[in-house]
Amino acid sequence: MAASQTLLELRAILDNATVGILFTRNRMLMQGNTLFAELFGYTLGELLGHPATMLYRNKADYEALGHDAGPKLAAGEAFRTEVRMQRKNGSIFWCQISAKAIDPRHPQSGTIWIMEDVTERRRLREVVEESRMELEAIFDNAAVGIAFMRDRMVQRCNRRFDEIFGYEAGELVGNSMRELHPSEAEFNRFCDWASQSIAARETVITEIRCRRKDGHDIWVRATGRQAGGGSQGGGDSMDVVWIFEDVTERHSAERALRQANDELEQRVLDRTAELSSANQQLQAEIFERLQAEQRIWHIAHHDGLTGLPNRTLLHDRLEQAITQAARQNQRVAVIFLDLDRFKAINDTLGHAIGDELLKHVASRLNAVVRAVDTVSRLGGDEFVIVMSGVEASQDAAVVAQKIIESMAAAVDIEGHLLRATPSLGIAIYPEDGTAPLQLMKNADTAMYHAKARGRNTYEFFTARLNEEAERSFSLEQRLRQAIESGHLLLHYQPLIDMETRRVCSLEALLRWNDPERGLIPPADFIPLAEETGLIVPIGAWVLGEALRQNRRWQDAGLPQVPVSVNLSPRQFRQKDLVDSIRAILVETGQPAHLLELEITESTLMHDLDGAVATLRELDAMGVRLAIDDFGTGYSSLNHLKRLPVHKLKIDQSFVRDLCSDHDDAAIVNAIIGLGRAMELSVLAEGVETEQQRAALDKLGCRQYQGFLFSTPLPPDAVEQLFNPAALALLGAPPDYTI
Ligand code: C2E
Ligand code: MG
Ligand code: MG
Repeated sequence: MAASQTLLELRAILDNATVGILFTRNRMLMQGNTLFAELFGYTLGELLGHPATMLYRNKADYEALGHDAGPKLAAGEAFRTEVRMQRKNGSIFWCQISAKAIDPRHPQSGTIWIMEDVTERRRLREVVEESRMELEAIFDNAAVGIAFMRDRMVQRCNRRFDEIFGYEAGELVGNSMRELHPSEAEFNRFCDWASQSIAARETVITEIRCRRKDGHDIWVRATGRQAGGGSQGGGDSMDVVWIFEDVTERHSAERALRQANDELEQRVLDRTAELSSANQQLQAEIFERLQAEQRIWHIAHHDGLTGLPNRTLLHDRLEQAITQAARQNQRVAVIFLDLDRFKAINDTLGHAIGDELLKHVASRLNAVVRAVDTVSRLGGDEFVIVMSGVEASQDAAVVAQKIIESMAAAVDIEGHLLRATPSLGIAIYPEDGTAPLQLMKNADTAMYHAKARGRNTYEFFTARLNEEAERSFSLEQRLRQAIESGHLLLHYQPLIDMETRRVCSLEALLRWNDPERGLIPPADFIPLAEETGLIVPIGAWVLGEALRQNRRWQDAGLPQVPVSVNLSPRQFRQKDLVDSIRAILVETGQPAHLLELEITESTLMHDLDGAVATLRELDAMGVRLAIDDFGTGYSSLNHLKRLPVHKLKIDQSFVRDLCSDHDDAAIVNAIIGLGRAMELSVLAEGVETEQQRAALDKLGCRQYQGFLFSTPLPPDAVEQLFNPAALALLGAPPDYTI
């Protein structure tokens, strides 16, 4: 009962087992559970008692299994395998077998087989394996290096990863990532940089320098990201998948490119520097050249002595000033300046001193005018000032006056106290002209009038002045012609000595007999002749003619009387004066004592030393010398003492009002006293009335010249002076018989 119960229970276990269970003996199917039969598609009945071969695909499979299992079973071990078996319907399936001998020592006691259909499981396993293989293939053949790291240790990496770093396959596994970095510091820096972002589940991408196993440095692009679903392994441990790409080539290409770029930039810089220095040099050369040009220009446009603009530059400036004034409706003043008596300074003290004086003048002029005005030197002692933007002509007068004042103080040049007073002429644009040359000419004309008015003054140009200038120009032309065509002639006026009651001299007075205008008095043309220098040839002619005439009178039997000839300042300064007088005396055969020269006081005082020297020579020759117009100049007694003269001719201005003006009488008295003291003859000029003569006589003057006795006469009328009737005027018949 108990045995059958047990059997029932065992049967229940067998039938409810989830695996197929089979019992074989001597290769025969002896017993099995339902699941086993179902596994093969049979009923138990169809299987039990049959050879086991029916379960296999073929005899070979069956024997191979037996061959494998036999030794193990015999050794009492469990035998396990998976083998393909065949169902009743011929279909094949994978069957997992576990076999064990009931009693290994007696194989005939049978074997227990546990069988399970694992076809599905195998299939699944194969699928998994396949995809694993595929992934592996992808992993291993990836063109990028992939590594799986845990806590910076390489857990796994693909071949490319090894290759990138020059390791054998699998060599890196288990190594720290530190191996891949050139230094501890760089590694730490990299980790610090990456770990935070990675922990925050961000993907980090960077390019870093790494080190290969062989020590060479490479550049890699590293992309890292936390693997799986977060922190693995708990705590600080972190799984990271790194993808590494070798970008060394690109890097070196980039570096080469950068280097090439840098080199190029450097070359550009070098070249730029070169160019800039070349440019600087060029600039310097241009500058030098400009300076040289400027120097040349300056020399060409400035006066070498004073540094003032010269005539050329003046012309330009004046033109500019005119253009500007025309536009702005303003005036331009042209001031012509000439130094009074500069020539005398130059002649007597020498050019060096004259030059110094001119420099002083230049600087004084510059100090007076505004910066915008132009002070220029035309040459000699002539300066021109151009004032632009002048509102009224009065502005120019103010400047002219300032110039005069600025020149008033004497300059000390090498111990000579020199004073260069100026005469100024002013012409105004547009009233006095619109062209530079016209304005200059008119200012020049005005300047001459300032000189004529007594120097050290200024004069505005006016149309009247111009007319005068033109008149004087045509006068000059006509005078030249008069000299050539012999229209100059001499009249003679007797000088009477009441002591001896004789004509003591005949003064030659120049006349111009103009065919149209008749007789022109000397006052109308001698100043011009003096100014233009025509006086020199005229004077020479007068001297010769007077002496020749005297010779003719003598030849005609008239008494021998000296002729008086007036010498102009310019004539007196002639260097060859003495020689030419000597020559004329010789030529005309006249003894020197028959020539009396009249020289004005101012002519003598102008250059006293020179005058003394000339007079001494003439005196030594025997020529008589008289000071004409005495009293009008400023000769002091001291000066007079030095001059070897024989006669003083009291100027007619003192004689005119002698009878009514006490001052004049006093002057005449003084001159007479002076003459007496210095043993000089004293003659009164311009005696027209008997009262004058009587007054002079009372003062002790015995020599006269004047209309009271005779007007100047033409040569052929002179004879009558010597006939008794004419001489009756003198109060008694003169004695000409000496
Ligand atoms: P001067 O040498 O003082 O000559 C005297 C002037 O007084 C002459 O004038 C004469 O005509 C004038 N005169 C004579 N008696 C009287 C009188 O009673 N009353 C008035 N009111 N006048 C009288 P003239 O001929 O017109 O000459 C003027 C000046 O011209 C001269 O003054 C002299 O300085 C200058 N002169 C004349 N001829 C020459 C010359 O050949 N050479 C130079 N360098 N100067 C000359
Ligand atoms: Mg005279
Ligand atoms: Mg006189």
